Amino acid sequence: MRAKLAVLAVVVTAFLWRDTFDPESVRGARVLVTGASMGIGEQMAYHYARLGAQLVITARRESALQKVVERCMELGAQKALYVSGDMSNPADPERVLRQAVALLGGLDYLVLNHIGNSPYGMWDGDTDYVRTLMQINFVSYTQMASAALPTLEKSNGAVVVVSSLLGKMTTPFAATYASTKFAVNGFFGTLQHELAMQGSNVSITICTLGLIDTQTAMDKIRGYTDITPYPASEAALHIIKAGATRQKESHYPWFHWFTCFFRDWFPYIRDICIQKSFNY
Ligand code: NDP
Repeated sequence: MRAKLAVLAVVVTAFLWRDTFDPESVRGARVLVTGASMGIGEQMAYHYARLGAQLVITARRESALQKVVERCMELGAQKALYVSGDMSNPADPERVLRQAVALLGGLDYLVLNHIGNSPYGMWDGDTDYVRTLMQINFVSYTQMASAALPTLEKSNGAVVVVSSLLGKMTTPFAATYASTKFAVNGFFGTLQHELAMQGSNVSITICTLGLIDTQTAMDKIRGYTDITPYPASEAALHIIKAGATRQKESHYPWFHWFTCFFRDWFPYIRDICIQKSFNY
C-alpha cells in the first residue's frame, strides 16, 4: 500500500511539474523587463531575445542597457530597445511603462524584476532607507502594474513578478529587503484574487526564487553564509516559462515549493536551522 502511494505521489508530482512551455508562444511577444542591465533581468532579456520576442528593457545605467540591447539583437530579438529610469523617482515607473508601450505598440508581458541596493547585515535602524527601498522594490511595481493593466487586458497579457523566498519567510540580515518582498507578495496575491473575481484575462505570476549567483547577491552574502547559489541564466528561463504558461506561483529552485509548504510545521526547529546557516 505504501509503495503504491509513493508511486502515486511521484506520478502526480511529475504531472504537476511537467514542462508545458511552448517557445513559439513567446515569438513576437511584446515584453518589458525591468532591472535588465545586469543579473537575472539581463539573462531574461537574452532568453527572450533567443525566443524572438520584441523587447524593451529598463534600468538606470544607459551604457549598460545599450550593451544588453546590442547583444539581444545579435541573439535574435525581433526588436530590442531601452528606456532608462530610476524607480526611486515616483514619476518614473509610469513614464517608463508608457514609453515602452508606445515603442512596442502594446504589451504582452510586464516583467517586474528590478531591486534597489539592499543593505545586508544586522538591522541598523535606518528607517529612512526602508521608505526609499519600498518605493523602488514595491511601490514602483504597483505603479507599473496599475498603469499596464488596461493594455494587458486588451492583449490577454501577463504580469510576471520576480519575488523571493525572503518574501515568504524571514532570515537574518535582510530586514529592509524582506519587508519589500513581503509587500510585493501581499499586493500581487491580492490582485490575483481580484482579477479572477472580475473575470479578467490578465494573468499574474509570482516567482519565488532562492539564492541566485548574481554578482550583487554573491557580494552581499560573502562571509555571512555558505548556502549554495543557483545559476542566474536558469532562474531567468524558469521565470519566462512560468509567465508564458500563466502559472499563479512558481518556485526556483524547485525544492523551495517544499520549503514554503513545510515552513510553519516545526517553527522552533526551522528557526534554529535558519540561524545556524548564518555567521555572526
Ligand atoms: P541585480 O542587483 O543583479 O540587478 C538589479 C537591477 O535593478 C539592475 O539592472 C539595476 O540596474 C536595476 N536597478 C537598481 N536600482 C534601480 C533603480 N533605482 N531604478 C531602476 N532600476 C534599478 O539583482 P538580481 O538580478 O540579483 O535580482 C533580480 C530579481 O531577483 C530581484 O527582484 C530580486 O529580489 C530577485 N531575487 C534575487 C535573488 C538572488 O539571490 N540574486 C534571490 C531571490 C530573488 P541599474 O543599476 O543600471 O539601475
